[in-house]
Amino acid sequence: MRLIFMGPPGAGKGTQAKVIADYFGIPQISTGDILRSAIQNGTSLGLEAKKFMDAGELVPDAVVIGIVRDRVVQPDTTTGYILDGFPRTTEQAEALKKILADLGKGLDAAINIDVAEAELVRRLLDRAQIEGRADDTEPVIKNRLMNYEKQTRPLIDYYRKEGLLRQIDGVGAMEEITGRIKAALRA
Ligand code: AMP
Repeated sequence: MRLIFMGPPGAGKGTQAKVIADYFGIPQISTGDILRSAIQNGTSLGLEAKKFMDAGELVPDAVVIGIVRDRVVQPDTTTGYILDGFPRTTEQAEALKKILADLGKGLDAAINIDVAEAELVRRLLDRAQIEGRADDTEPVIKNRLMNYEKQTRPLIDYYRKEGLLRQIDGVGAMEEITGRIKAALRA
């Protein structure tokens, strides 16, 4: 089971990716988490990524593509994985296709979690208070949402054309949304 989880910042994709990954017993590969842990560990990758993340910009394609290329060949990925927050640009999607093709593999589905923008801003500001993430201040949130619209939303069409898209309504109780994702994966 190889899945990607997409959705605007604040849609709850990280939370759902974790639940679904546990359900299938596969790893959740979050590029955001990998980058945050690189920052914490003070690695050169972290140093490079931090300035983009703090500004609400995407980290350069080459950097995240390299992370994913190395990660999807680790021993824990043999039965599958969820890519959480990757790809986020068409270039990343094309690179992923190539990485998988070279491994003789493909994706099973692209889950897109859909939430209206006003609700997203509210959720992100709440999360900022709870988690204290450096990229959850209001101007940075606005910038992330703008970059999402510009760079990432086009992937919905990309995966629709590939026949992989599963649209999930991201408004409701957490368990309810998990149920929608499971149903979409069974269909
Ligand atoms: P996330 O935790 O998925 O919201 O990611 C937090 C931040 O990490 C994003 O705002 C980006 O700056 C960076 N990031 C995570 N994944 C990617 C990606 N696939 N491409 C570019 N930047 C990314």
